[in-house]
This record gives sequence, C-alpha cells and structure tokens, in this order.
Amino acid sequence: MKNLFALFAALSLVLSISAGANPPAAAHAASAGHSAHGAAGVDPDKAWQWLKNGNTRFVKGNLRRDGQNNQARQANVAGQHPHAILVSCSDSRVPPELVFDQKIGELFVVRSAGQSLDDSGIASIEYAVEHLGPRLIVVMGHESCGAVKAALDTMESKKAGSPSLDHLVANLHPHFSTLAKGPRSNGLVIEGKANVKGVAKDLVTRSAIVRDALEHGKIKIVTGLYRLGSGQVEWDESSAH
Ligand SMILES: [Zn+2]
Repeated sequence: MKNLFALFAALSLVLSISAGANPPAAAHAASAGHSAHGAAGVDPDKAWQWLKNGNTRFVKGNLRRDGQNNQARQANVAGQHPHAILVSCSDSRVPPELVFDQKIGELFVVRSAGQSLDDSGIASIEYAVEHLGPRLIVVMGHESCGAVKAALDTMESKKAGSPSLDHLVANLHPHFSTLAKGPRSNGLVIEGKANVKGVAKDLVTRSAIVRDALEHGKIKIVTGLYRLGSGQVEWDESSAH
C-alpha cells in the first residue's frame, strides 16, 4: 500500500509539472505537426500537446481534412502506432477522435459509460501499453455525464436497474465519497472531475502493468473534462485525491 500511495503522489506531481510546462494552446493551434504513422513511443508531453492542439482546432472549427481519407487508412494497414490511450465516456456527444481532431491510427480508445473500468477495459489498456507503444494515457470525463448522475443517485441504494448496471455504478461510487451528500455542481462538473481522478487512480491500483510502466517513467496519466457547449477539454492540473 505504501508503494501505491507513493505512486499516487508521483502521479499528482507529474500532473502539476506537466501542466505548467505546456505553452499556450493557441500558439500551436495551426500546427498538426506530426504524421499518423510511426508516432508510437513518442514523448508523452509531446503527445499531450498534439491533443491540446487538436482540441483547439476542434473548438475553432478548423479541423484537418486528412485524418480519415484513403491515405490515412493505407498508412495504418500494416499495423497501428497510436500515440495516446483515451479512456473516455460512451456518450455520443464526446467522440475522442473528433474532440482531439486526430487521425485514424493515432488514438487507442477505451470507452464505457462514466469511464467505469471493468476487466476488459483494463486489459485493453494493458494490451496497448505493452504492445502498441503509446506513452500517454488520458482519462477524459465530460460535463453532465449520465453515468456520474446515476452513480450519485445510487450511492445509498446501490441499485441501478440490472446486475451489470449495479456493477458499473459500484465502480464509480468511491469517487464521490466526499461529494455525495453536498449540493451537486452545475453540469456535475466538480463530480465529473472527481470521477476522472478516481478512474485514473483505479487504473493504477488495479493494473500491475500500468503501475509498473508509471513507476518506470514509461507512461504518463493525465485527466480532463470535456465541456459539451464549447468543445473544450479542461485539463485537471490539481493534485490527485
Ligand atoms: Zn458520460
């Protein structure tokens, strides 16, 4: 357990240091700056900057036009080389490839309602970490998440409507232990941010492969919250809790 706490502390430190080192996104808005092919193993800060640049393009409606064409497809036929793993919600309003304006082959995406992690989700992340080379893991929630609301609504009863739904919300309940009794925030923004931090912690706790990679500086984990109206991803730069 002691090692685990040390890792969480390291994760917090990484989050703060990395966030401070990033130049203003607007300065990079116009530069796609990388190819879809061969980007695996890229420095996690660089990959994170690519996502920030892509999100700025998305917000401004200035999307690349070469991300889904035949050339992009052909570049990935022989294999995939994603530069980031996205753990995000299944919500139809939050498609990661669009939100970050990334090409085919650039994101390895694991989606579930509320980013609730089950064994398959964790195994998918582990597979990518071990075999595909991305060094950045992004856990992204969003404003007004129905799964976050469902988890908050079932803190007492634990009943969400089916055994599978019960399991999904049970994974999220611990993330709200200090928030559930207070008034809910507008758009469940505070609760959504607590949830992504909790999911990031759960991933480190439950996956020895992810924990080992983090411990050896092979990967970085960052969290963010997507705003439905603006399209902007707000990166959480506070300490993990
Ligand atoms: Zn959601």
